[in-house]
Amino acid sequence: MIQVGDYCRPASVAEAVTLCAREGAVSFAGGTDLMVKARGRSQFRDKTFVDLGGMSELSFIRDEGETISIGAAVTLTQLLQTAAIKESVPLLWQAASRVANRQVRNRATLAGNIANACPASDCIPALMVLGASVTVTGTEGERTIPVAELFRSCEACLRHDGMQVRTCFFLETVTKKLTLRQGELITSLEISKQSAEQRSVFYKLTENRSSGMAVLNFAMTGSLGADGTVTAFSVCPGGVFPKPRCFPERENPLLGRLPDRALFQSIVQEISDSLAAEKDTLAGYAYKSRVLPEILQDGMAQLFLGIPMEGSEWSI
Ligand SMILES: Cc1cc2nc3c(=O)[nH]c(=O)nc-3n(C[C@H](O)[C@H](O)[C@H](O)COP(=O)(O)OP(=O)(O)OC[C@H]3O[C@@H](n4cnc5c(N)ncnc54)[C@H](O)[C@@H]3O)c2cc1C
Repeated sequence: MIQVGDYCRPASVAEAVTLCAREGAVSFAGGTDLMVKARGRSQFRDKTFVDLGGMSELSFIRDEGETISIGAAVTLTQLLQTAAIKESVPLLWQAASRVANRQVRNRATLAGNIANACPASDCIPALMVLGASVTVTGTEGERTIPVAELFRSCEACLRHDGMQVRTCFFLETVTKKLTLRQGELITSLEISKQSAEQRSVFYKLTENRSSGMAVLNFAMTGSLGADGTVTAFSVCPGGVFPKPRCFPERENPLLGRLPDRALFQSIVQEISDSLAAEKDTLAGYAYKSRVLPEILQDGMAQLFLGIPMEGSEWSI
């Protein structure tokens, strides 16, 4: 008989889903986000903690041909040690390698990085531009949700200053920050493999190289046709918007054009205009609104012109 305040280790997804559907249940995997939030906070005292970490049914990385499927209990270390991830989705590999430090990555899961829905998450921008989706499972069965449709807007999150989590202590991440129903769990992620032509760049600006959340980050993908014109482009900046967004949001001004810095400016301007709406909510707006255009320009120059970004690891 499960009591409130219990810690449970379900043996199967079916059991986990049943437990998580109960009032007051909170799922977690590595606990590297949840335990930081929960420490010393009374609203977590009477919850039933459902531990998905290490669950064998969710500990898989499967090559499905054109896609890769990653179970929700896979840690970032396991992800980084899998050759198929580095070869097939190098952008995700790069982003995951920049999360925290080895100790954190040994416990932290990719699913937890998504489900925590922090605007400065390192993996979410990569998954957004790669068009990934998640499989979620609840008492009513399974459904697939594109990562781009998974998040709710969280203005409170924008007031964070790096790891100094001051305002967002949402316990019910699943229903408050994600478009999931009570009791639904992310059980896996599905990502299309990057094609040989699909170039990508991940970039992270952080205060503390060894373990800091991003002050700003971005993931971008793009490709060029045989005639040198742009055939695809997408960028997702992190650490600036209340929910993840890919740009361009409407018509893509780069398509069919030869890449150059003047052309890149049209994308940078669209992002800067959108960012202006966050002036009163975003911690560090003055700094971020000045730096983001520069790093986006440099990222596009690396992506399309092969000009390496100055200092591929920036620190402030
Ligand atoms: C010192 C430190 C440094 C960090 N640095 C970084 C960094 O540089 N970059 C970065 O992106 N993150 C960083 N983080 C945050 C964190 O490590 C990552 O977000 C991590 O991937 C979370 O995974 P987890 O398994 O530990 O999540 P947990 O803490 O277990 O869970 C996080 C949230 O997701 C929910 N959840 C977990 N799994 C599921 C699931 N399968 N279905 C539904 N909901 C689920 C939980 O209920 C909880 O609300 C850092 C954390 C610490 C403590």
